[in-house]
Amino acid sequence: MTSTSRFPVSIEFFPPKTPEGVEKLRIVRHQLYALKPEFCSVTFGAGGSTQEGTFSTVRDILSEGVNAASHFSCIGATRERVRGQLATLKAMGVKRLVALRGDLPSGYGTGGEFHYASDLVAFIRAEMSDDFHIEVAAYPEIHPQARSPESDLKAFAVKVEAGANSAITQYFYNSDAYFRFVEDADALGVQIPVVPGIMPIASSSQLMRFSDACGAEIPRWIRLRLQGFGDDTASIKAFGLDVVTDLCEQLRAGGAPGLHFYSMNQSAAALEICQRLGLVA
Ligand code: FAD
Repeated sequence: MTSTSRFPVSIEFFPPKTPEGVEKLRIVRHQLYALKPEFCSVTFGAGGSTQEGTFSTVRDILSEGVNAASHFSCIGATRERVRGQLATLKAMGVKRLVALRGDLPSGYGTGGEFHYASDLVAFIRAEMSDDFHIEVAAYPEIHPQARSPESDLKAFAVKVEAGANSAITQYFYNSDAYFRFVEDADALGVQIPVVPGIMPIASSSQLMRFSDACGAEIPRWIRLRLQGFGDDTASIKAFGLDVVTDLCEQLRAGGAPGLHFYSMNQSAAALEICQRLGLVA
């Protein structure tokens, strides 16, 4: 299955932990295939903690005739292990990777032969030439561990110089941050497509928790409106759909090259947003 939509959409899943989760995700995927995604990606637990689940979900997607991207994090890994995992992914027919540093869970230590995602990108290019299209992460609102906004942008440029083909951003709700990031990258000579990552809003507490951890800012007006809804999940979802559809419209109108949905293994919000955007065939 390949994309025919004029505006490219991709979708991210995480590997389920139970047989029920695997079955549920199969149903969700088939619902989301109505969007004719360019590709579906599957996250990869840092330290290789979800390798089996990631690879088997990627296999399932490929067997359904859809392009699959495997996320791949390098923190804590050795070159030998990464070499073996890349060979496995290539043999599976994977053509696209999301190359990441990752965050080691506390207690894992800091060992390993890769320090930054740029080391991984350079290693993939050196070992596998152009066998993979390489995506990297971008942070319009600055990565939480960055020394400064300038050094974070430079780190992004280094990943591109190392061989990244395109990027997917951390999610955000302020389109100015995205457009400024793209402009600043362009001024540094970085011109790869930077696709905004879109996080639908389904639950107020979950969103606050994730956003604290990954450094995504929830604008005050959104936070206060969400708090005002209390436990009224129907109102939270309705508000979230309006806010995120508006954001996607601004991004598309401003020249974003596509949308990457963090599905959280759910289909309803991404489908509804794309329906409103006229992206469902
Ligand atoms: P890097 O690009 O290496 O940057 C990490 C930090 O180091 C930044 O602060 C950067 O400014 C700094 N830095 C980089 N290079 C240098 C340098 N040379 N000198 C000094 N500082 C430097 N995590 C997972 O575990 N699994 C996933 O599947 C996953 N998928 C993701 C998908 C997307 C689209 C995004 C946006 C994030 C994803 N993450 C995932 C989270 C990601 O692993 C974390 O945000 C992690 O902290 C950084 O990874 P990175 O690849 O962006 O790292």
